[in-house]
Amino acid sequence: MLTPVEEAFVPLRAAVSALPAYVPGARVAAGSQAWKLSSNENPYPPLPSVLDAIARGAAEVNRYPDMYAGELVEALASHTGVAPENVVVGNGSVAVLAHVLQAVVEHGDEVVFPWRSFEAYPIAVAVAGGKAVMVPVEASTGRLDLPAMAAAVTPATRVVLVCTPNNPTGPAVHAAELETFLAAVPRDVLVVVDEAYLEFVRDPEVPDGVDLLRRHQNVVLLRTLSKAYGLAGLRVGYAVAEPRLAAGIRAVSTPFGVSHLAQVAALASLAPAAQSELLDRVDALVTERTRVTESLREQGWDLPDTQANFVWFGLGEPTAQRAAEASAAGVLVRPFAGDGLRVSIGETEANDAFLRIAATWR
Ligand SMILES: *Cc1c(COP(=O)(O)O)cnc(C)c1O
Repeated sequence: MLTPVEEAFVPLRAAVSALPAYVPGARVAAGSQAWKLSSNENPYPPLPSVLDAIARGAAEVNRYPDMYAGELVEALASHTGVAPENVVVGNGSVAVLAHVLQAVVEHGDEVVFPWRSFEAYPIAVAVAGGKAVMVPVEASTGRLDLPAMAAAVTPATRVVLVCTPNNPTGPAVHAAELETFLAAVPRDVLVVVDEAYLEFVRDPEVPDGVDLLRRHQNVVLLRTLSKAYGLAGLRVGYAVAEPRLAAGIRAVSTPFGVSHLAQVAALASLAPAAQSELLDRVDALVTERTRVTESLREQGWDLPDTQANFVWFGLGEPTAQRAAEASAAGVLVRPFAGDGLRVSIGETEANDAFLRIAATWR
């Protein structure tokens, strides 16, 4: 290891020294057996057609990928019902969020977001030079408190992040509350609607993001192929925005940020036959979600409504202890120390294993 030889060394930006660590979900150790319900991943392996596309693409990795992923952007645009000018892809939607913030946040601008929410938010905001303004989610329901978020907007606010469904608590925002919120927020404040779990939503009161975008130029949608489409390991996410904003996001994006293999796998996943098979899998996961939440409620748990592929237990202080117990019993879950436990919906056997553990906690 290289260690500094003198006291004087290059200072890091203060915001970088102060960054909270991103804690990834626990991984299965080599040679051991466990169910991985810690990262909200899709438990199904890639479709044969997607594996084929990756294998064929592998023969071409001596070449740079298409820099702006033209074919993929067109496919995503038609998938979303917008024009290619409205779509910007990136190395996962986490990278796209970073680019959105870099495109609009000046040093010291405020970025309002719910908390607890997606753990990448405070990091992305600080790296962009923004000042985080965190608004607590409603403790009993795990819902975003949109009136409080609107009230937190000041003349220094540049961006508001709306995570729906909210990771890790689960509920999605409703059309009426979001309309009220958008009416209250100045039109030069960007509202980023993070729809990472969109395909798992079954709540009929959830708004159509594209319709929202048509009526509100200050809205950006963030979407991903990591969850419903099962490509977490390849890193493909995208933003949908009005063309001028989309061009700004594109301008700050990492060149060649979406690898060739990611592009071909995403294209293969969006092909009609593959897509319908993938969405059938999402339906199966939603059915499992219903089964798991009903079983947990029968056990006596009071849980927030989840519209995503995970369940939230606001356990408070015993969280770390419970996560360790689950891990010892062969199920990896995601603890947020002192706050709660997030458990992804996985294979039926994995969910059954977790249900048995949860029963012992009652
Ligand atoms: C998983 C997740 C994402 C997706 O991240 P990728 O970088 O696309 O894998 C984005 N937002 C939220 C809230 C998430 O939970």
